[in-house]
Amino acid sequence: MMNMPLNLTPPVINPNAEKVLSKRYYRKDENGQCVEDATGLFWRVASSVAAEEAKYEQSPWKPDALARAFYDMMTDWRFLPNSPTLMNAGSELGQLSACFVLPVGDSIEEIFDAVKFAAMIHKSGGGTGFSFSRLRPKNSRVGTTGGVASGPVSFLRIFNTATEQIKQGGTRRGANMGILRIDHPDILEFIRAKEQEGEFNNFNLSVGITEAFMQAVEQDRDYALVNPASGKEQGRLNAREVFNLLVDKAWQSGDPGIIFLDRINRDNPTPAQGEIESTNPCGEQPLLPYEACNLGSLNLSSFFVPGHLDETNPADRGIDWAGIERTIALAVRFLDNVVDASQFPLERIAEQVRRNRKIGLGVMGWADLLYQLRIPYDSADAITLAERIMDFIETRGRAASIQLAAERGPFPAYETSVYPTKGIPPLRNATITTIAPTGTLSILAGCSSGVEPLFALSFARNVMDGERLMEVNPHFEEALREIDCYSQPLLEGVAELGSIQSLDQLPEDLRRVFVTAMDIAPEWHLRMQAAFQRHTDNAVSKTVNLPNSATRDDIFAIYWMAYEEGCKGVTVYRDGSKSTQVLTTSAPA
Ligand code: UDP
Repeated sequence: MMNMPLNLTPPVINPNAEKVLSKRYYRKDENGQCVEDATGLFWRVASSVAAEEAKYEQSPWKPDALARAFYDMMTDWRFLPNSPTLMNAGSELGQLSACFVLPVGDSIEEIFDAVKFAAMIHKSGGGTGFSFSRLRPKNSRVGTTGGVASGPVSFLRIFNTATEQIKQGGTRRGANMGILRIDHPDILEFIRAKEQEGEFNNFNLSVGITEAFMQAVEQDRDYALVNPASGKEQGRLNAREVFNLLVDKAWQSGDPGIIFLDRINRDNPTPAQGEIESTNPCGEQPLLPYEACNLGSLNLSSFFVPGHLDETNPADRGIDWAGIERTIALAVRFLDNVVDASQFPLERIAEQVRRNRKIGLGVMGWADLLYQLRIPYDSADAITLAERIMDFIETRGRAASIQLAAERGPFPAYETSVYPTKGIPPLRNATITTIAPTGTLSILAGCSSGVEPLFALSFARNVMDGERLMEVNPHFEEALREIDCYSQPLLEGVAELGSIQSLDQLPEDLRRVFVTAMDIAPEWHLRMQAAFQRHTDNAVSKTVNLPNSATRDDIFAIYWMAYEEGCKGVTVYRDGSKSTQVLTTSAPA
């Protein structure tokens, strides 16, 4: 590792972040004592990722200057790489990606290979997605033994149990995505798999929806179930009845979600390498079998400039666009270096990753930026700005990847990818943008997560092992102080309610801007997801929150809207439909 410069500025760390860092991120000795602080951590990450630069002769950067720039961009909370990079960069483990997809073949050997590979990935802090669609259905014959097959849902249980036993490298529990195609004969059992609370607790489940199925729903027709082992039709179901069952289960518990498989494959940049069958656990990263991807997020709220005025376009007021552009270029270089720096648990994964060199640059702090700009999340202005910002990140991110390709060569599969035929010049990375949930990163950066609205203006956060942390949104606090309304009793009242919409004593314009997840109509959640999706190569992590009183028809409408708006999938959550929520206000659900 490069020597740590003596004049590094230590980051300003909020108490929640310090707690998370010392519990999970700082390197520890054999007695569990932390052997680094935040400066040490960010220097370890910055210097080891920058060291990769040395092998590229055409680079305009010297590794030590680059390390310094990486360090500054992380410690100013402008950009953070995904958790495995923070935890493992510069360490012996060296596995830096958050997202993996593994194939599950239709044989005992292949199934248990996938269980083993998943265990190895979980140990290193990555999450795994699987499609179970190739497994023969329950009760089919097993040729070699003459017995009967137990089917995808039964095997899913083995993956779930294995995950339970492996805490991810002592850092976090493994997260999984399980996908089954809508035309698999066991689809009804799969849709009902999480009926009982606690079942498959280490899995998010999503049904892989096809265009053919959606058309059958629209026309109220039957559709064929296909046995993946024989390729033959095995029964028919009424599409609308199946869709209604999906809606019903999502209404009850939020599970399963849906992903639009054909749409994901329409945007597959490397179809010559096969079909995409699954995403990572939180749904934002579709990947080929054995592929992995590392993510990173720009903290949009850190680019707010009070009073900043761009003369040419008043709509640009308040945002340091030049700063975002500089950070994008640096972040893309960082994420591409991570592809080189990362060590993978399987050679096959390393090969697949280095063929396409996918990276996923996204955002966090979006709701905070809207608060800072005093734009309501559920407004046309917010949607317009979302598109404008993500378009900016998409085009500048692509330019940065083109620049890297000129210095280092394009990703090896560029020639057989879709890009040459589209007239897109050589890129270093097959995908560049992804919007991650940023569950932990947003705590570290002290901003709102991903592109989600705030859950509450003041709330208790359930983090790790049942601990609760109290938080008040700083922009809300500032706005209250500006109008002389700040008081402890008021804040306590807000913590109790989560929202300020019923507090008539507060000015109307304040209430209009400081909306929270439950104040926002589901359609606006969806519109926001769609706006970001329009400029994202991969997908957008987003939950459409609905009030407890939402009906099945409301969920049906949201699913349909997600389809029509071009989303790649959708996850809904009806308030109070699970007994343990990640975030809760102190008010009973
Ligand atoms: N992930 C995981 N386990 C977790 C949280 C996340 O495996 O407990 C993986 C998963 O693939 C997820 C991705 O990391 O989709 C990104 O999640 P997030 O942005 O919340 O992670 P962070 O980098 O903030 O920890």
